[in-house]
Amino acid sequence: MEMKKKLVVFTDIGDTIIDEGSEKRAVPFGVVDRADCIPGAKETMLRLYEEGFTIVMVADGLVRSFENTMRQNGLSHIFSAKVISEEMGDHKPARVMFSKAFEAAGLTDADKGRVIMVGNNLKRDIVGARRFGIRSVLIRWSPRYSYQPETEEEIPDWQIDKPEELYALCVKLESELE
Ligand SMILES: [Mg+2]
Repeated sequence: MEMKKKLVVFTDIGDTIIDEGSEKRAVPFGVVDRADCIPGAKETMLRLYEEGFTIVMVADGLVRSFENTMRQNGLSHIFSAKVISEEMGDHKPARVMFSKAFEAAGLTDADKGRVIMVGNNLKRDIVGARRFGIRSVLIRWSPRYSYQPETEEEIPDWQIDKPEELYALCVKLESELE
């Protein structure tokens, strides 16, 4: 592992790392038993982790769903902290999801400039990040959501079309922080 980077990456899971179209559940809306990564997502997240970027899960869903899918895809170990809506009793864009992630990762308000939120959902990931005061990256890989902002708050700082692009963006942002 290389020296710890300054940039901290908060990430959504569904249609950001995991392909929601591949999710298998025993019952509708139940725990996700199996799912595959979006092409390139596993490699990208492992590379960011191995190069010393701090990665924090900020996800809406059931704890066991994320345990299952992260384990199956070999990603359980990359997260410094995991903030999951089931445990929080609220979901993004709620401020508590982001404040808990800050607390869990040992971050304070002074660190807001070096944290980005990566996600696919304008109304949850992008609005949540904006209201909390961190920058955001919209990943437009999934066909399941609209990527057309309807309000000022839904405008992301950066947009990417596939996971691999996140690596280059993180390297660029890291160099700006140094
Ligand atoms: Mg999502």
